Amino acid sequence: MTPAIDLHTHSTASDGTLTPAELVRAAADAGLDVVAITDHDTTAGWDAAVAALPPGLTLVRGAEISCRWHGVAPPVPLHLLAYLFDPRHPELVDELARVRAAREVRGERIVRLLQADGVDISWTEIMTAAGGGTVGRPHIAAALVRANLVASTTEAFGPDWLGERYRLPKEDIDVFRAVTLVRAAGGVPVLAHPRATRRGRVVPDDLIGELAEAGLAGLEADHEDHSPAEAAHVRGLAAELGLLVTGSSDFHGTHKTVRLGAHTTSLGAYERIIAQARGVTPVASG
Ligand code: AMP
Ligand code: FE
Ligand code: FE
Ligand code: ZN
Repeated sequence: MTPAIDLHTHSTASDGTLTPAELVRAAADAGLDVVAITDHDTTAGWDAAVAALPPGLTLVRGAEISCRWHGVAPPVPLHLLAYLFDPRHPELVDELARVRAAREVRGERIVRLLQADGVDISWTEIMTAAGGGTVGRPHIAAALVRANLVASTTEAFGPDWLGERYRLPKEDIDVFRAVTLVRAAGGVPVLAHPRATRRGRVVPDDLIGELAEAGLAGLEADHEDHSPAEAAHVRGLAAELGLLVTGSSDFHGTHKTVRLGAHTTSLGAYERIIAQARGVTPVASG
């Protein structure tokens, strides 16, 4: 039987709603054979996920790194999935810590803007709810939902709220530096949802070609934020550039509606990732 492989999920170590332990149990319950934990800008969930790993499930340790391409003004935000890198690589550790700190500054600024317009939410409460995980707009969205100011996370990400009016940029890592650092740490970099126009601006194909030359290993094609045409385009581009192709749920618990395993990665692509990894290995419980 073909194994079910989902290489992009979030836990409470960032903006997911299941703890790392709950995440791996949910992955097994969903019938997955391989799951990657890819929290935003952190490896904080890795150990708890390993400790709770159910029999039969293989865990790929990873992260989703907040990046920016500075080739146009204003710079385009993009997400780089990084698999099986050494979590102690000093420069990568420093960059991730810097981005997490910048996220807190930016989150508090967003909350101040909301408060200045009379919106009664508290930054302290948001930080408490985030529980030490990488804080992001979903945590602010949850506060807006709790305050009955919006009906759903989706509405909170609309143009009247965090999608536009109260949107501030993050201080992300330059995408070329991120690709280089992930490789230096023995990891395998894969560009997340590269054509997700519904999330905002996307980078041109030429840039993806340059990233491939700089060490990018693959592209995430099957993702809920890609239309079938966008996914097909990504697959074509990957074939042209010799990159591997992944498909993933980008599961966030109740912060999003997508289910674990909603999109999956082929065994061949998974094996190409494993073959290139030099940082840490996948973990299977005994
Ligand atoms: P941030 O990293 O703080 O800029 O927040 C971006 C995160 O918000 C993404 O990683 C998604 O998990 C989430 N997100 C973005 N757009 C939406 C949306 N329309 N509905 C729910 N979650 C979203
Ligand atoms: Fe997220
Ligand atoms: Fe992402
Ligand atoms: Zn994600």
